[in-house]
Amino acid sequence: MKTITTDFEYFGPVKVEEALDLLSRYKDDEYKIIAGGQSLLTAMKHRLIAPEYVISIKGLSDLDYIAFDEKQGLKIGALATHRSLELSPIVREKYGFLCEMEENVASVETRNWGTVVGDLCNADPATDPAPPLIALDAKFKIASKGEERMVAAEKFAVDFFETVVQPGEMVAEIQIPVMPANTGAYYTKYSQLLGDYALASVAVLITLDKKKEVCANARIGLAGAAPAPVRAKKTEEVLRGKKITEALLDKAAEMVMTEVSPVSGIEGSEDYKRELAGTLLKRVAKVALERAKKA
Ligand SMILES: Cc1cc2nc3c(=O)[nH]c(=O)nc-3n(C[C@H](O)[C@H](O)[C@H](O)COP(=O)(O)OP(=O)(O)OC[C@H]3O[C@@H](n4cnc5c(N)ncnc54)[C@H](O)[C@@H]3O)c2cc1C
Repeated sequence: MKTITTDFEYFGPVKVEEALDLLSRYKDDEYKIIAGGQSLLTAMKHRLIAPEYVISIKGLSDLDYIAFDEKQGLKIGALATHRSLELSPIVREKYGFLCEMEENVASVETRNWGTVVGDLCNADPATDPAPPLIALDAKFKIASKGEERMVAAEKFAVDFFETVVQPGEMVAEIQIPVMPANTGAYYTKYSQLLGDYALASVAVLITLDKKKEVCANARIGLAGAAPAPVRAKKTEEVLRGKKITEALLDKAAEMVMTEVSPVSGIEGSEDYKRELAGTLLKRVAKVALERAKKA
């Protein structure tokens, strides 16, 4: 019988360099980073994981920010919570659908503690922020001792609860480009309980041409419908360069059903979740299109 001990050594660095130094000292299976603890503590309480070292990044106040710049776009530090994103006036003005997304993540209590980055690093296949960030072409800044690298949002999660983050690394920041002119975006999810994880969720970003008649660009992110969030590139191609009509949206919905790979579970079969992805795609794309016309 394997005995799982709940004892661990706790570190509370207050500088990013201190945290990165600590991360460089231990092997991957020896430590865990803790931010708001909303997912990590649940896993520890259920004895799913038992790290020897818990490294809290909550004291790294340098990483607690949401900042916007007209050229560089939006930057979300590793300690920004769901709630701070939801209530940020600049985010509501420039990327309103991110605030709408946040309103349906868990409960206010969880949003107050849980960080956006922590949610993405936990890598639940149905994590809410992933589809909008994929649609927005966001990048993740991953830091380790003396080094930094950037990873596209669509490449960040690789499987169930698995990301590209390597031992010694932590995500420091999310970077989101400025939304192009004539762009509309929308995100929605379908879950059985209000505020619960999605069975499927879709984000669509549509950029119209100058005359606002033709789809100049489309970006689509989905979650819940595969072991990790996905970008639906073939579905984007269906829309790109064409006038968006009801018939075209039907084609896009059919295509997106081929781009997801849901897993059957007690909450729904593979086929059901595939259908759901198609239905949501059409619904979400319509709203994004209307918003692009008014942008
Ligand atoms: C009841 C409940 C309902 C929920 N419902 C939803 C939902 O509907 N939609 C949704 O999207 N989420 C949902 N969540 C998940 C919630 O959003 C996350 O638990 C929370 O955002 C995680 O952030 P945290 O700061 O608490 O991370 P923690 O729990 O501290 O950490 C989570 C994981 O990320 C790692 N980590 C944290 N920060 C970093 C970093 N900077 N770099 C590298 N690794 C890091 C940790 O080591 C850990 O493995 C729900 C959670 C609960 C408890």
